[in-house]
Amino acid sequence: MIIQFCGLSGAGKTTIARGTKKKLKELNIPVEVIDGDEYRTFICKDLGFSRADRMENIRRLAFIAHTFSAHDITAIICAINPYEEVRKEIRSQYGDVKTIFINCGMDELVKRDTKGLYKKALLPEGHADKVKNLTGVNDPFEAPADPALVLNTDKESVDESVNKLVAFIKKNR
Ligand code: ADP
Repeated sequence: MIIQFCGLSGAGKTTIARGTKKKLKELNIPVEVIDGDEYRTFICKDLGFSRADRMENIRRLAFIAHTFSAHDITAIICAINPYEEVRKEIRSQYGDVKTIFINCGMDELVKRDTKGLYKKALLPEGHADKVKNLTGVNDPFEAPADPALVLNTDKESVDESVNKLVAFIKKNR
């Protein structure tokens, strides 16, 4: 199975993927986390944050996910994955793809600001430190139309979110 996460920066994708990996390993369920940030420093180094590049990024991560999933290793694609078009494409290209929405409201994201990006993206126009292309602030995010699972991380604890995903994987693999 391939799991494609989608969700804004700071929503909890990395935290949930890591927690899930740990629990699945304890249950002897093979899993691989394909971390978008990590691949952006390596085989996706040439890609930026335009719509075309974000879509190409997901295509590459999905290809890697597929190679794991073909060997019965549950592969979690951990990236913002903001566009419905490419999520759909991945679902139709590979069998057994589940889209999971890691959902968190903007107020909580700005409060968390785990990477300091929201503060910078919300700076006034023309400010030297202003971050552009932050998904959900000044770059688009399309909520998934029909996700297989939604984890509302502003309403549940890390443990609750992880347990829900572990249960989902156990049921669907
Ligand atoms: P992302 O990978 O989506 O950018 P991170 O996992 O790096 O997000 O950060 C999410 C932050 O939110 C962490 O500090 C985490 O502890 C916190 N958090 C609070 N509740 C949850 C939850 N239910 N699931 C995941 N993270 C949560």
